[in-house]
Amino acid sequence: MSEALANLLNETRQFPPPAELAANANVTADAYAEAAEDRLAFWERQAGRLHWDRQWNQVLDWSNAPFAKWFVGGQLNVAYNCLDRHVEAGRGDKVAIHWEGEPGDTRTVTYADLHKLTCQAANALTELGVTAGDRVAIYLPMIPEAAVAMLACARIGATHSVVFGGFSADALTNRIQDASAKVVITADGGFRRGKPSALKPTVDEAVANCPSVEHVLVVRRTGEEVAWSAKDHWWHETVETASPEHTAQPFDAEHPLFILYTSGTTARPKGILHTTGGYLTQTSYTTHAVFDLKPETDVYWCTADIGWVTGHSYIVYGPLSNGATQVMYEGTPDTPHKGRFWEIVDKYKVTILYTAPTLIRTMMKWGEDIPAGYDLSSLRLLGSVGEPINPEAWIWYRQYVGRGELPVVDTWWQTETGAIMISPLPGVTEAKPGSAMTPLPGIVADVVDDQGQSVPNGGGGYLVLREPWPSMLRTIWGDDNRFIETYWSRFGAGANQGGDWVYFAGDGAKKDDDGHIWLLGRVDDVMLVSGHNISTTEVESALVSHPSVAEAAVVGATDPTTGQAIVAFAIPRGSTEISGAAGEQLIADLRNHVAKTLGPIAKPRQIMLVPELPKTRSGKIMRRLLRDVAEHRSLGDVTTLQDSSVMDMISSGMGAGK
Ligand code: ATP
Ligand code: MG
Repeated sequence: MSEALANLLNETRQFPPPAELAANANVTADAYAEAAEDRLAFWERQAGRLHWDRQWNQVLDWSNAPFAKWFVGGQLNVAYNCLDRHVEAGRGDKVAIHWEGEPGDTRTVTYADLHKLTCQAANALTELGVTAGDRVAIYLPMIPEAAVAMLACARIGATHSVVFGGFSADALTNRIQDASAKVVITADGGFRRGKPSALKPTVDEAVANCPSVEHVLVVRRTGEEVAWSAKDHWWHETVETASPEHTAQPFDAEHPLFILYTSGTTARPKGILHTTGGYLTQTSYTTHAVFDLKPETDVYWCTADIGWVTGHSYIVYGPLSNGATQVMYEGTPDTPHKGRFWEIVDKYKVTILYTAPTLIRTMMKWGEDIPAGYDLSSLRLLGSVGEPINPEAWIWYRQYVGRGELPVVDTWWQTETGAIMISPLPGVTEAKPGSAMTPLPGIVADVVDDQGQSVPNGGGGYLVLREPWPSMLRTIWGDDNRFIETYWSRFGAGANQGGDWVYFAGDGAKKDDDGHIWLLGRVDDVMLVSGHNISTTEVESALVSHPSVAEAAVVGATDPTTGQAIVAFAIPRGSTEISGAAGEQLIADLRNHVAKTLGPIAKPRQIMLVPELPKTRSGKIMRRLLRDVAEHRSLGDVTTLQDSSVMDMISSGMGAGK
């Protein structure tokens, strides 16, 4: 970016918290003041929400910045905090996981059950020779064993590396090799889109090229036939026959807890390393604060996959450390029908729902009649994560899922940040649709210009974090230089001369007139049109605010007169007529609608009506591929793409030249 981002979108709607929620909120406005007064003391108090076997002697050691140490000298066991302490407090019979398989089979797993299974898995892994510091790869469907496998690793100090079950053998191989994993935990398969989807053959293919792997533990889920080798062990013969007695040893606060590869939206995935004490402190606190989680009464459901950081922090570590009861669902949102999510909310009386904009926009596309067919009255709080949420999608979510009453928390964070960083507090913040609002207590975020200077309210630029935070990544696994280069060098030049280290998140953002933060998409996606930096997010949000559009992606394509020109891809809502003249008319209307909403500078040169958009397997729009299409290039790396046939559909329509 050669100048600050143009600030085009003007969204003025604002929604105060429901009075009852505000009156009973876990966290009130005081938290901001307390953290502002003494940030480290604030985090020290949040660490005190956990059970420590040994107290730390220093909250933060930043002397070797940007390599942080939090709660130095402290010791704890993550699995003990997520399981044993609830069981010891007499809450063993409380449901930890209401599990729903895609075919409709169910399991009810209590804290006592989860504790027992985790102890057995810890014993089985130890028996297989896994010791503290070893890496274990986990490649599982969304079944309770996924949480058990992670917790068992944490319990014995092994570092897990969860690989999303949709990834190919190549992707799995790279991740196993990068971390030199000793054991792989997998399943015969899982159920997806109404049929078994095999995992074991992919593991077999990967393991053949991974000499570090000594053993493969296989959960039986689908019952399909699998090939077997000397390294393979059935979970039910190994784990479920192991002793349920296991005493958790404490580990150092900085002991490596897990490696997780970023989703690869912009570049080659990075193996992000998280450690123990700071990570658990912040995931646990943010679950309590942002979701206002009341473990006695709430039923929480995060729809993410365990293969993403959201699954790590807000299915496993955050909710379980708080003693939550949650729903875990194996399958896809439209199997066997498009109301499946709402059916699950209704069935388990879910009170807190945390999902992604891509799903909300898909639900918009399917139409509001579908959620209207279910009783969603148990819900009291809605959350969003993964991409900027367009104001219209936010409003739709609140209106048709949240009865027009519920707070929506738009939570900004990354694999690298480990936990939520910028978000409304549901009992405090008067949320604006499309804005992540303010940094959480204890977090110092800012928006800066090219020179790293804070932009004034009303300005746009780069999102940065000015102070270290407990759940921050500690490095990129095996690549300290890439860690410094990627995150700490863009605005960190002063650091070498005794200035401050500034974390560069890679996202564009603006501050509105009230100083609230709006995420504007990745810096790599920002467009430069006639000398103006324009955010893809804002143009997309303008398109989505048209009643006929459910979802849109926008890219800047090279243009001889304007430098870059805006090319948009839009998915029409359910019943919209798009063939022939009706389609031409809609495109003309949409171009004018954007010009009217954002100004003539943002009027797309070209709009394509498409049935789908290319997305990563975590559901994020991959704009770089659309840029390839718009510039008539052959496609770049598509290995993290969810469905490669989407690109054929889009490319073939491109010749039509709208
Ligand atoms: P890679 O870094 O490999 O390109 P990725 O950034 O998609 O992959 P994640 O760590 O899963 O991997 O995603 C974090 C990014 O997702 C953020 O940097 C931001 O761009 C986007 N994001 C997440 N939540 C929000 C949100 N609430 N609002 C806006 N953007 C969000
Ligand atoms: Mg990223």
